[in-house]
This record gives sequence, C-alpha cells and structure tokens, in this order.
Amino acid sequence: MTAKRIIIVHGGAWNIPNSLIDLHKAAVAESASIGMKMLTNGGSSIDAVESAVRSMEDKVFFNAGKGAARNSEGELELDAMIMDGATLKAGGVAAVKNIFHPITLARRVMELTDHVLIVGDGARKFARKCGIVEQRIEDLLSRDEAKLYDELNSKPATVKKLFAGDTVGAVAIDVDGNITAGTSTGGLSGKLPGRVGDTPLPGCGAYADNQSGGVSATGWGEAITRVVLSKHACDLMVKGVSSQEACEAAVGMLAQKVKGWGGLIGIDAKGGLGVAYNTGRMARAFLTEEMNTPKPSV
Ligand code: ASP
Repeated sequence: MTAKRIIIVHGGAWNIPNSLIDLHKAAVAESASIGMKMLTNGGSSIDAVESAVRSMEDKVFFNAGKGAARNSEGELELDAMIMDGATLKAGGVAAVKNIFHPITLARRVMELTDHVLIVGDGARKFARKCGIVEQRIEDLLSRDEAKLYDELNSKPATVKKLFAGDTVGAVAIDVDGNITAGTSTGGLSGKLPGRVGDTPLPGCGAYADNQSGGVSATGWGEAITRVVLSKHACDLMVKGVSSQEACEAAVGMLAQKVKGWGGLIGIDAKGGLGVAYNTGRMARAFLTEEMNTPKPSV
C-alpha cells in the first residue's frame, strides 16, 4: 500500500515578535519544501526529516545548529534526536559542541551504533569518527547573519536566562507509510553547562511509531521531560485519537500537570496532521504531496 507523503515542520513555540514573523514563516516553508522534495525524489521519511531540520539548523535566527542559544559560559551545547517509527530505533546527541548539524549526528547514532544517546565529548569524538568537520561559529556566520544574531541576543541577561524558543523539528510520513520525527535545539539560553533538555530524549522531545504516529515537541524542556510529552501524544493516537486532538490534549496535560508551556506538531498513522501550543505563537508549515506550496503559519 502506498501512503500519502506528508511533512510538517516547526520553528519553536514562543512569543515570536511581529518583526520576526515573516522570517520565520519563510524559513519553515523552505524547510517543508526541502523535506517534501526528498520524499518525492524517493527519499525515506528519515531523509526528509533530516534534510528539513538541517535547513533550519542553518538559519541563524533559529535556536538550533549555528544559531543556537549560548549557555551561561557563552558556549553552544546542542541537543538533537531522530526516531524511526518503522523500527522504533532512535538516535540522539546531547551537549555536543562545534558541529552545526546535530540532527545528522543523531541519525548516525541511530544508524551506526547500538546506542540511543551520546553526550558531550563522546559525541564530539563520534562526530569526528563519522567524518563530520568541526566548525567555528565565526567561520560560518555571514556579516548579515552575525548582525542579526547580535540583535537577537542583545536582550538583558535576566530575560535571556529564561528564554527558550526557536527550537526546530519535523515529522514526515513517506510513501511506505513510515513515520519519522526529529528535533534539534540549543536548549535554554543561559543554561548551566551540561544541562540536557527534552529534545534528545525519546518520548520527550520527539517520538515516532508507525502504529500511532510521530510528534516533535518544543518549549520548556524540564516540564516536557517530566511528562514525557511526545510519547503521551502518540499513546493517544494509538487509541484512535486524531493527531490534532492528541496534540491538543498533550499540551493541555503539560499545562495542567506541571504548569509547562510549549508546542507539538504531529502526524498520525492515517496521515492526519496536528498542531497545538500554549505559547503566543508557533512557527510551522506543512506540505502534502498534493499541494504545490507549503502552508506556513505562526
Ligand atoms: N525544549 C528545548 C529545551 O528545553 C527548548 C525549546 O524547545 O525552545 O531544551
């Protein structure tokens, strides 16, 4: 049986200011198009999610890859994971430095090792082993991007400390009905060195199971982790709840149980799409194979 190819992506749930709306809409639309191109060219949902997330990791205004938030010592420590709903294999990296595509490293963990999560220096060593070139942020930011980054990060320390947002993620279903979910982040701005959020933890920052669906989460990582948010939404989908209702129920549960905030995107096994968030805005875009252009919203 051939399934309908679908991709949905997000660029984080937070109070996106008016001045950044167009930028974020264009970037999530581009990411969805890149993922759909992969699917229509015969790529798997793993290829689609990886390529869609990579395109957002390249944008300096997202809190992922080269635009990632700094920790309290001014360093980038990145978290990412990807999960294959066909096999329930997952790969993640946490607190990894000096690479700009942690989603690709997470995929290598899933496909090339027997592990689920590799952190810190070990992840950096594994990246070297995989031939992933180490980067210096100064080498990668164009002058315009560097300026934008400085503007975005000129908030007072007290505001920065609490800031989370702009994390990126994607969920896709391919022609074989295989569902993949992935998420990538720099975590909370000003976080303690070594802090790991929800993003690289299966069931928290993302989850995928062909029998239920796939979900990518964003928001306050400590709260999301404590309620295992993505798995919660998938557990509802396996009972026949639609992706939209499952995402709404999961975000409601996050708020009610742990006063958490954030958002989810999802695709259920029937190809139904879901989006829910309890922040001011959430940048997202989806594309099905029947559509010509993606539909971005914030
Ligand atoms: N969930 C991420 C974290 O807490 C941040 C975010 O999604 O904006 O690390």
